[in-house]
Amino acid sequence: MQKLAKAIIILLVILSTNTLPAKAATTVSVNDLIEHAKELDGQKLTIQGEAIGEALERGEYSWININDGTNAIGVWVSRSDAEKVTSYGNYKNSGDIIQTTGMFHRACKEHGGEADFHADTITVIKRGHPVKEELPISKRIGIGVLTCVTAVIVLLYIISGQNKMDKPTRRKVEDKQRKLEKSMK
Ligand SMILES: [Zn+2]
Repeated sequence: MQKLAKAIIILLVILSTNTLPAKAATTVSVNDLIEHAKELDGQKLTIQGEAIGEALERGEYSWININDGTNAIGVWVSRSDAEKVTSYGNYKNSGDIIQTTGMFHRACKEHGGEADFHADTITVIKRGHPVKEELPISKRIGIGVLTCVTAVIVLLYIISGQNKMDKPTRRKVEDKQRKLEKSMK
């Protein structure tokens, strides 16, 4: 049922892009591009996602990787457009969220037969930012509990150790301590 619905949507996408070329391109997920590569090949579409990794400069153009959470694709974009992107997602930063309209190629002849997306325009919708490294609350509570339990165990161990010491041993230890104190005076 879901497949049928998807097929209908894609058919509508194709029809609308073919019959109404002036109309804004339809937004699709990156996974739709991969899964329905045959149907969407050569179509003018819009994709939206996070710029990840880094831009790879190739003369007047650049490659930007876009990940929309469903999948990722290489976007071929003019260098001046690529410069609009200031933050790329990695373990330290979240990347800019960009929207790009262009042409999807299932097996791009220009670029070694790989699937890619040639951008006409790109727009930064939301700026990326540094990712704060914070421990989740559950982990912090876990560490707190573990510390308390360890402290209690250590305390119990010390107390039980003192009780186990018989009187002669304790006297010996005390004597040694006294001698040590005297020698230090
Ligand atoms: Zn290409």
